[in-house]
Amino acid sequence: MKNNMSLANKVLFGLIAGIGFGIIAHAFLTAGFNDLVVKWVLNPVGNVFLRGIKLIVVPLVLCSLISGAASIGDIKKLGRVGGKIISYYMLTTALAVTIALIFANLVNPGIGLNMPLPTEYKAAEAPFVMDIFVNMIPTNPLESLVKGDMLQIIVFAILFGVSITLIGERAKPLLNIVNQANEVMIKIIGIVMLTAPYGVFALISKVLIAQGLEVLLPLLKYAFTILFVLLLQILLVYGGALKILGKVNPIKFFKKFWTVMVVAFSTSSSNATIPVNLNVCQTKLGIPESISSFTIPLGATINMDGTAIMQGVAAVFIAQLFGVDLSFQQQIMIILTATLASIGTAGVPGAGIVMLAMVLQQIGIPLEGIAIVLSVDRIIDMCRTVVNITGDAVGTVIVSNSEKELDLEVYNS
Ligand code: ASP
Repeated sequence: MKNNMSLANKVLFGLIAGIGFGIIAHAFLTAGFNDLVVKWVLNPVGNVFLRGIKLIVVPLVLCSLISGAASIGDIKKLGRVGGKIISYYMLTTALAVTIALIFANLVNPGIGLNMPLPTEYKAAEAPFVMDIFVNMIPTNPLESLVKGDMLQIIVFAILFGVSITLIGERAKPLLNIVNQANEVMIKIIGIVMLTAPYGVFALISKVLIAQGLEVLLPLLKYAFTILFVLLLQILLVYGGALKILGKVNPIKFFKKFWTVMVVAFSTSSSNATIPVNLNVCQTKLGIPESISSFTIPLGATINMDGTAIMQGVAAVFIAQLFGVDLSFQQQIMIILTATLASIGTAGVPGAGIVMLAMVLQQIGIPLEGIAIVLSVDRIIDMCRTVVNITGDAVGTVIVSNSEKELDLEVYNS
């Protein structure tokens, strides 16, 4: 326990030192020197950490979901937990976009801004909404594993786990192997996390050296609207949900959860955060493995409240830049499409901005606007990823407690 704490503190220290170093190096050191530092130190150190956690994601998600789906016991309970968590994920996302739209309409971030509008910007092809659902079903599970397609891996793993349960006694040896493999993955996470403080330092200072905080200036109103709503989502929606729906103390949650938030912030990737998130949920928040190993990877893939907030504010902002007045119906459409788009967004850096194309297309706003918000997206991506993964853990606490399976002694310790 003591060791764990000190690692968590080291990670926080890495973050603060990285921010400080990045800002100072960007402001005072020469570009040539900074290039050398990035090339010889920050890139390699950051990548060792990133690759370390990425290496574990696919096997971990596979093993933990199979083991979760199989060890929940009966299919009815799996269906009940699944139903609860998916409803929570969808509702909080819709609520997040709604709050984002309310504030975007109050602040009007795109009005009175004199920006040259880009005419040539080729946004990536937005997927057709229904395809998101159809493509969840893999045609070749090995290919899904190789490509790291999380939604497909999830569907396959749940089917696999459910089938183990249906077969019962005869499949027990196989389940034991999966459970043991799962344990090995968790051990590997522990080893990789030893590099986290250095990795976090390198990743964060690299972003600040390259961009400095002044990239936010031209789009200050836009950036701040998003950051403000992200904060509201954490404090009001998650804090409130923990208190009212989960009947637990929100402060205890955040005291234990911030290491996960730091990893999300520095990696900008929900996928990369899955291992640490599982670890904290199981060892510090008292959530049983059978529930968290199912809901956390699922949430990292389909539940992205922070991304939906960005998409809501960006849609209003870009509409205002192009002088388009959004009707009430169009705003309802934004809530719907941003909720769906966030389900289809991969948990990797920058994915949310690609799916923004889907939202804009649906309400007929020029996709070229994406080029403008892209300039500040790196920093906003870090912040929204924190919200994305916090929502998963909050939902998991609530569902576990509603199933009377939250270990309150561990949670409150
Ligand atoms: N980076 C985000 C995540 O991994 C996705 C996004 O770009 O919005 O959660």
